Amino acid sequence: LLTARGLRKSFDDREVLRGVDLTLHRGEVVVLIGPSGSGKTTVLRSLNGLEIPDAGTLEIAGAPEADFTVGIDKNERFALRDRSAMVFQHHNLFPHLTVLQNVIEGPWRVQRRPKDEVVAEARALLSRVGLADKEDAYPHELSGGQQQRVGIVRALALKPELLLFDEPTSALDPELVGEVLLVIKELADEGWSMVVVTHELAFAREAADHVLFLDGGVVVEEGPPEQLFTAPRHERTQRFLTRIL
Ligand code: ATP
Repeated sequence: LLTARGLRKSFDDREVLRGVDLTLHRGEVVVLIGPSGSGKTTVLRSLNGLEIPDAGTLEIAGAPEADFTVGIDKNERFALRDRSAMVFQHHNLFPHLTVLQNVIEGPWRVQRRPKDEVVAEARALLSRVGLADKEDAYPHELSGGQQQRVGIVRALALKPELLLFDEPTSALDPELVGEVLLVIKELADEGWSMVVVTHELAFAREAADHVLFLDGGVVVEEGPPEQLFTAPRHERTQRFLTRIL
């Protein structure tokens, strides 16, 4: 479903990604872990055109391969953007729109699908995550966990091929983390393809098919969670895991 090769990105003079490869098959969950500043968010943003790498290639869901070394045009960028939907650390909901309006904004106004259809879908998705009675609420009337669940529903409503989660629980109070991780785990079990940046290693262990450990803009080590967490091969991975566990 997704093949990224040799992604490189510099900000000013700092090379933040130094040749990152990432492969994801349909229905898989890939989790990115690594220390702060290692480039995880930049990888994720590069997968959906929010960040344009300086070099490397990216192919998602049959879209023509984007070759960043040559450069991509606006249409190619939109094509990348279309295929995935991102759930941010801070939910990024529109404060002046209700929950339902937030969810239908993308599919109705941007994708221009019929309003009654997207409203019906939005309601079904909201009730799936236990928010059926909140469709007329405004974001500030919800708890952080509820806001983040709306953020997830908003991504699902776009019917993307791929979901991208950027530290979806790190801005939440500890007691609200579980409800959001549960929703993500259920989506994974349903067969959604996703890339998740997270510091929640217990979640990674349970939900990931494949874990990438990033440090200094390179993938230092990758593998199935049981291998990476119990028998890491690289000293840098071992050190990171000892620090965080
Ligand atoms: P964290 O866990 O703290 O979110 P991360 O692994 O996700 O870290 P990135 O957010 O990808 O790391 O950032 C990698 C480096 O790139 C950091 O040093 C960051 O300051 C820098 N960086 C990221 N985005 C920009 C930007 N738009 N302009 C300048 N520097 C940036």
